[in-house]
Amino acid sequence: MHEFSIACEIFEQVQATALAHGATEVKHVTLQMGRLTHTNPEQLSFCFKALAEGSISENADFIVEMVPPSLECACGYMGPVDEKQIRENSELKSELLVYVAAMECPVCGKQAHMTGGRELIIKSIEIETEKDLAADSK
Ligand SMILES: [Zn+2]
Repeated sequence: MHEFSIACEIFEQVQATALAHGATEVKHVTLQMGRLTHTNPEQLSFCFKALAEGSISENADFIVEMVPPSLECACGYMGPVDEKQIRENSELKSELLVYVAAMECPVCGKQAHMTGGRELIIKSIEIETEKDLAADSK
């Protein structure tokens, strides 16, 4: 499963970062995910939770922020893909197809080049470092 291998990588990065900072618990993991990554955030979260079981990330909130792609046109236009235009085109079911259809430049009407939307990065990790916190919760 595509999501599982991504979740593995994220989990390893989260653990490595958290432990390097002396964390006793990971509270939040915030991820930025491009809409074109073809990754299901619910499945990713599910895989992450399964991997994190028994680790310091076990109770972490897994937050996924979706990042829309942006357009870059030869006429000089640069900007986010128009979300409203995408919704109006929504008879196209696949997200990717919707974005391909929305690649028309809003200024000159020509085919614009799409950038971004494929990123998958850990934006932030919030950790707990107080040593005595773990002791009184169990
Ligand atoms: Zn243009």
